[in-house]
Amino acid sequence: MIQIKHLQKSFGKLDVLMDVNLNIKRGEVISIIGPSGTGKSTFLRCLNLLEQPTGGSIVIDGQEVLDGHVNASKLRQKMGMVFQSFNLFNHLSVLDNVCIGPVKLLGKTRAEAEAKGMELLKMVGMAEKAQAMPAELSGGQKQRAAIARCLSMDPEIILFDEPTSALDPTMVSEVLSVIRALARQGMTMAIVTHEMSFARDVSTRVVYMDQGVIYEEGTPEQIFDNPRRELTRIFVNRIRDFHYCFHSADYDRYELKAAWQNYCSKYFLSRKAVSETRRVSLSLFRLIPLDCGAVDMYFRYSEKTGELSLEVLLPPGMESVFGGMAHAVHMQQIRNVCRSIEEAVEETEIGERVRCRLVFRNLNR
Ligand code: ADP
Ligand code: MG
Repeated sequence: MIQIKHLQKSFGKLDVLMDVNLNIKRGEVISIIGPSGTGKSTFLRCLNLLEQPTGGSIVIDGQEVLDGHVNASKLRQKMGMVFQSFNLFNHLSVLDNVCIGPVKLLGKTRAEAEAKGMELLKMVGMAEKAQAMPAELSGGQKQRAAIARCLSMDPEIILFDEPTSALDPTMVSEVLSVIRALARQGMTMAIVTHEMSFARDVSTRVVYMDQGVIYEEGTPEQIFDNPRRELTRIFVNRIRDFHYCFHSADYDRYELKAAWQNYCSKYFLSRKAVSETRRVSLSLFRLIPLDCGAVDMYFRYSEKTGELSLEVLLPPGMESVFGGMAHAVHMQQIRNVCRSIEEAVEETEIGERVRCRLVFRNLNR
């Protein structure tokens, strides 16, 4: 239905979309996830020409839409969009919001538009509020009215841009239920969302966007349970990194300590986790010389699984943390509190380096 190739969008010097490629088939429900500021909204806005892409191609039903001949408002009738901030006409009743498009743009009579409008309002649970003004509605009701308004134009696809992120937590599920119902009816949809469990059960495909490209895509199971690439893994497991780079044995201890304490309190690491990670890193740093090149240290805490790990990227040339027999005491210290210890070679900008990964036993429980 839609083929997107090498799509690019820059705002002046800022390149937001670098090279986005995606095909959307009829009936697909595609969730788009990824960190803030990576161009998810820009991508949706480019699709229905609310933004003019700076390069690439979008073919819809066999027709190129970026060649300048396409009527943008006709295109937007095919592609409904639901925004975070509802965008209802505040001076019109709910029913008028739902009727205005069909009457003004599709040439329907008021009676036809009202009949269809009431049907749609029933579908989203808003029939009783047909005569209400938007100001009298809760956020969840506003968003359901906005979905009904979108449907009134008979779109072929609906683009949702974080439809629940402006809502009170109590109202999120009523809106998600409506979107789920649309999915069951076979509506084609692209949904930018931070609701991971929703994305998982509603989508046919999940797209992870990062750094202006589609970094990884797959079935919900692939993306959420077995992400193949690093950034996807960090995102879906809500991994919070603490990174410190040692350039010499005279590193700034005060700076490191302050940053570490900050991290621990920000993510509520348990007291036990704080003291054991400290002991392990002290042992570890007895085993690694800090004066033969950069040593990168990462603490990674998964807010999803509670897993806490410590990774150290050794300086080029150093092959293992656990080389000499003389260090048996430190190694034992580490084995006592870690359930797995792995080392693997990795290609980096400054050559091959060994990454040592220690996973702590459940410290946060
Ligand atoms: P996301 O939806 O993934 O959070 P956005 O698409 O909103 O990301 O934004 C991506 C980047 O593009 C951000 O750095 C944002 O500041 C920038 N951006 C978005 N819209 C505009 C605009 N109209 N003018 C200039 N910069 C913009
Ligand atoms: Mg956005």
